[in-house]
Amino acid sequence: MNSDTPTQQFDVSIVGGGMVGAAIALALSQAGLTVALIEKQAPIDFKADSVPDLRVSSINLASEAWLTKLGAWQLLQTMRLCPYQRLQAFEHPASIVTFNAADVNSSHLGHIVENNLLQLALWQQFNTKVSRCCPASVAAFSQTEDSALLTLDSGEQLTSKLVVAADGGNSQLRQLAGIGTNGWQYQKACLVALVNTPYPQQDVTWQQFTPTGPKAFLPLPGQQASIVWYDDAPRVKQLAALAPAQLSVELLKVFPEQLGKVEVVNSSWFPLARMDANRYFAGRVVLAGDAAHTINPLAGQGVNLGFADAKLLTKLIIGAHQQQRDIGNEELLKTYQRKRKPANLLMMSTMDGFYQLFGNDITPLRKLRQLALTIASRSGALKKLVTHYAVGTK
Ligand SMILES: Cc1cc2nc3c(=O)[nH]c(=O)nc-3n(C[C@H](O)[C@H](O)[C@H](O)COP(=O)(O)OP(=O)(O)OC[C@H]3O[C@@H](n4cnc5c(N)ncnc54)[C@H](O)[C@@H]3O)c2cc1C
Repeated sequence: MNSDTPTQQFDVSIVGGGMVGAAIALALSQAGLTVALIEKQAPIDFKADSVPDLRVSSINLASEAWLTKLGAWQLLQTMRLCPYQRLQAFEHPASIVTFNAADVNSSHLGHIVENNLLQLALWQQFNTKVSRCCPASVAAFSQTEDSALLTLDSGEQLTSKLVVAADGGNSQLRQLAGIGTNGWQYQKACLVALVNTPYPQQDVTWQQFTPTGPKAFLPLPGQQASIVWYDDAPRVKQLAALAPAQLSVELLKVFPEQLGKVEVVNSSWFPLARMDANRYFAGRVVLAGDAAHTINPLAGQGVNLGFADAKLLTKLIIGAHQQQRDIGNEELLKTYQRKRKPANLLMMSTMDGFYQLFGNDITPLRKLRQLALTIASRSGALKKLVTHYAVGTK
């Protein structure tokens, strides 16, 4: 510890300024709370001619509504994003189930956005109540009954009433706070590739289920798209090592014809893990987003769950602040955990059930999934319900 460095005081310190941490910082600062945001790496500036970020997310209507309230969505719209009106699921291209925006009386079902740009739009909305500590990371953490103390790698010290851990799936702060996790690494991994397509901008995102894993298409602005290829981890690593031209050839062999003759621009691969923190808080540390849970990305729900955490947590903190109550009190944090943990677990388990049902070739399961897709395509009410869940309005 550097004895010359004065300790700075904040209402809330947030470790991790990714999409979830930045949204929490923005919401709290807009309500007048002082916030320290500790982030390893700032988002890079937007250039209209830059190659899109490989990490993209499907943002549902519920997240969009909250981000609009925060003012970040409007900024993102001046950068780059791609709306979609239809969501398709199928095993064989002859039997496609389509979910439409009209089913939920909306002009669109969601948007595909680049993670880096959404993070940037949030950062660009920060007011003077947000003190950015960046690049920085945490060297030590301790807490008493009344406050929490963070020592940064620079030696700087920050005290606050509450520390939010939004530092992702491998959260260092979760470990420093002594919160354990449950979960496992899936045997599958996924390859993500940015591709040029021969078609004009598309309004559909689709997913084909195959025994080796799903193949997904996510539209991007103009004639570009992101494709996701789930397969056994060794196969995915092998594919990710290929040059773009070779990967294009492999892709065209296994993706359905409707993809068109795409050309790979670049690619990367991601391991797939399910993780659920045993509890969402310990003393004055509270977890949000991937620091609390990571989910199979199959249905594009990860950051949408993170925004739902962020929305509730900030609402509770702002409420306590306005009533001049302790913003790190146990009752508040228990309410947050009681409401968010079961909702996140339900989504994680539903996705795992889906993954089991559609990701193998066992005959009874094959029959069951054919039945599921047939029912989904014929029942208007069921389709509407599934669509509501997909867009986050249920
Ligand atoms: C292949 C793939 C596809 C996906 N697709 C979708 C999708 O379509 N829709 C969807 O909703 N979700 C999707 N997800 C999930 C989504 O990416 C995550 O849920 C989301 O990124 C979580 O956001 P976060 O802010 O909680 O964490 P992160 O995005 O992991 O951000 C954590 C931040 O903390 C910083 N940080 C980490 N450690 C420290 C430290 N010690 N000190 C300071 N800073 C630190 C990092 O630099 C980073 O900025 C996908 C995930 C994968 C792998």
